[in-house]
Amino acid sequence: MCGIVAISGVEKAAEQAYLALYALQHRGQEAAGIVTFDGTTSRSHKGRGLVSDVFSAETLSGLRGDVAVGHTRYSTAGGNDISNAQPLTARFARGDLALAHNGNLTNHLDLRARLVADGAIIRSSADSEALVHLIAKSKHYGVDAQVDDALSQLEGAFSVVISVDATIYAACDPRGFRPLVLGRKGSGHVVASETCALDILGAEYVRDLQPGEVLRIRDGKVEPLRQLKRAQPPAPCIFELVYFARPDSRLWGVSVDRARRAFGQRLAREHPVEADAVIAVPDSANSAALGFAEESGIPFELGLLRNHYVGRTFIQPHQEDRDFGARMKYNPVREIVDGRRVVIVDDSLVRGTTSKSLVRMLRQVGAAEVHFRIGSPPVRWPCFYGIDMPTRRELIGAELEISEIAAKLGVDSLGYLSLEGMTEAVAEAGPYCTACFSGEYPAPLVDVEKGLASPEGPLRC
Ligand code: AMP
Repeated sequence: MCGIVAISGVEKAAEQAYLALYALQHRGQEAAGIVTFDGTTSRSHKGRGLVSDVFSAETLSGLRGDVAVGHTRYSTAGGNDISNAQPLTARFARGDLALAHNGNLTNHLDLRARLVADGAIIRSSADSEALVHLIAKSKHYGVDAQVDDALSQLEGAFSVVISVDATIYAACDPRGFRPLVLGRKGSGHVVASETCALDILGAEYVRDLQPGEVLRIRDGKVEPLRQLKRAQPPAPCIFELVYFARPDSRLWGVSVDRARRAFGQRLAREHPVEADAVIAVPDSANSAALGFAEESGIPFELGLLRNHYVGRTFIQPHQEDRDFGARMKYNPVREIVDGRRVVIVDDSLVRGTTSKSLVRMLRQVGAAEVHFRIGSPPVRWPCFYGIDMPTRRELIGAELEISEIAAKLGVDSLGYLSLEGMTEAVAEAGPYCTACFSGEYPAPLVDVEKGLASPEGPLRC
């Protein structure tokens, strides 16, 4: 997953983009970058690591201009090589281009093969690079038409911001998989992955981009370009609400905190249990655990502490890092757990590795019973639309029955929220993409169908 931002017509746009990326850090921790344009020159700074490590006051002040595009990355398609860090930049016939993409294109290998056959020189393994080439090589007349032509050739998930000199384009794929919001700051505009990025800038939320919408922003004006052929129905990613987005954001008009609380409340109704304390796997399951506690009447306790100086475990791409991260990240509070029956609530179960160590830790400090409750259904299928899920055979829910998973985790009971329960709880913004739970993929998996990519899930380098 990635976080993206575009700033138009706001002084010191790089500083604004930096703050926005800082708020979007949870969406990717491998690399960050900002590209600005000052009316004549574009400047770029990118690097590996956290936003606060990549930029200094000095690098930011060198990024002059009132137009900026920014990106914070974790790898889905492509590895974490610096050549994959975004925004991607190019100088083409119509100006300086910078592009930041959130999502995953399901036909990028097909596009890439065609582009290479046509003479393109590909510099990264990122799926987003195809879009840069498609824009530059489009035979349509004028930048608007070239952007539009390029976007219409993409399949899969893309929320994207592009600058061509001082013009910003912001677009969402026809199914609207990934969030993208428009905000206003003074006489300028901000486009960002989540509303929490608008909040940090003191920008006013205007609206969400609609599926298939392409906006052009320049000189203080926001104008719609031709709508991409809209898919019916749209398919925003429900996993954004389950896990990925920040609880203080609103996505597609839904408060992430409210959504997770509703998941927790339904979970308590679907899988009731007698216990002394409800504890969350912090921080992503806090809202769901509060919902569970409210509905069940079992007190919510801060029974697990998270070390905030360790990054999100899954975002580190290699297995050794992830196991190490899980052990480093959490510690139970003995006084809350010892001799008590605890319900531990997590937002999702993916590999089951974190959960397994958590159960062991709770038992080590004397838990009398451990009941695991999950605020979403079993993750059974890989994501081809941009969530960094492991391949199918690594998913604990892929083949096993619930009772087998419970035995693996070593719990007294295990309960998952049902698919219906989850989608009904947030029905106002549905229907959703639920592919990781249901195996129903709303956008064609072109590369998989053509035998160019593995059905096991997007390859990571
Ligand atoms: P595990 O117990 O190993 O299955 O890990 C589950 C934990 O990973 C949960 O606490 C989730 O909050 C978190 N998680 C779920 N999906 C992802 C993802 N795509 N990237 C990073 N973390 C995730």
